[in-house]
Amino acid sequence: MQGEMTAKDIDKKDDHKISGIPPLIDLHLHAGWTDFDHADQEKRTEDEIKVCMARFLYAYREAGIIAARDAGGYEADLISGDITKVIINAGMFDQKNVNNAAFRDKVSASTAVWAKIFITGGVGTKKEETIVPRFKKDDFKALVRWLHGQGKKVMVHCYGGESLDWCIEEKVETVEHGVFMTRKQAAGMAENGVAYVPTAAIYRLLSDEPELFGIPESIRENAAHAAEAHMNAVRYAREEGVLIGHGTDFYSDMAFIGHAYDELNTLMDMGLSFNEAVAAGTVNALKILGG
Ligand SMILES: [Zn+2]
Repeated sequence: MQGEMTAKDIDKKDDHKISGIPPLIDLHLHAGWTDFDHADQEKRTEDEIKVCMARFLYAYREAGIIAARDAGGYEADLISGDITKVIINAGMFDQKNVNNAAFRDKVSASTAVWAKIFITGGVGTKKEETIVPRFKKDDFKALVRWLHGQGKKVMVHCYGGESLDWCIEEKVETVEHGVFMTRKQAAGMAENGVAYVPTAAIYRLLSDEPELFGIPESIRENAAHAAEAHMNAVRYAREEGVLIGHGTDFYSDMAFIGHAYDELNTLMDMGLSFNEAVAAGTVNALKILGG
């Protein structure tokens, strides 16, 4: 039956058990975040935040997600037990700390292998500014080289535009989102061994179920726009032979547990076969983590 599976066949969270989906790896999880808006998280007590993370990570493991690469926000191994194992992140760079020496020392000293750079805006950014690089090309390139020199692997939040070319030129390990990726850029990624973690489902969720996140209409509109453009990006990546990884951009909110298989469904809806989608969360994810 596997070959005949189509999107929406694995809609419910327990369906993975009967459809033979092996345990999956989520390459883009914000395990340390509990709310869409960070200001909401700051209203919670530390204990409450820990409870949110523990509940989510236990349930996520139970849903079949065995490991997750933290996309930023998870400080350490806060919770033990039979949870989704979180591969921690050394730190998140953006326009504010790109040249901050103390922050670099912290990242350098971290045992975490991965580090993240935010080079463009996202769904919270005004449409015309989404792909405008947040800092200078030279600073970006120097940062990637410094991180690679520290033995770190680099994941870059990049919606597209010229900074996606910089990612290819510097051979970062993964491009996250890549919503406005062109076919030429997809070919460049494939050629230079840059993997792609589209986090495709989250834009549809933001657009179709904004009440899950408590977001304003402007963000919903941006997400709908991103979801449409993403169809092309994922298609180009697949056709050009980019290594595609499975990542959700979820955070520690129980509301996402019922959506644990949305990313597989969305990838299939965007043209991947069932086996290709499963590979994104298994063999490809292992290649990205290990390679
Ligand atoms: Zn993210």
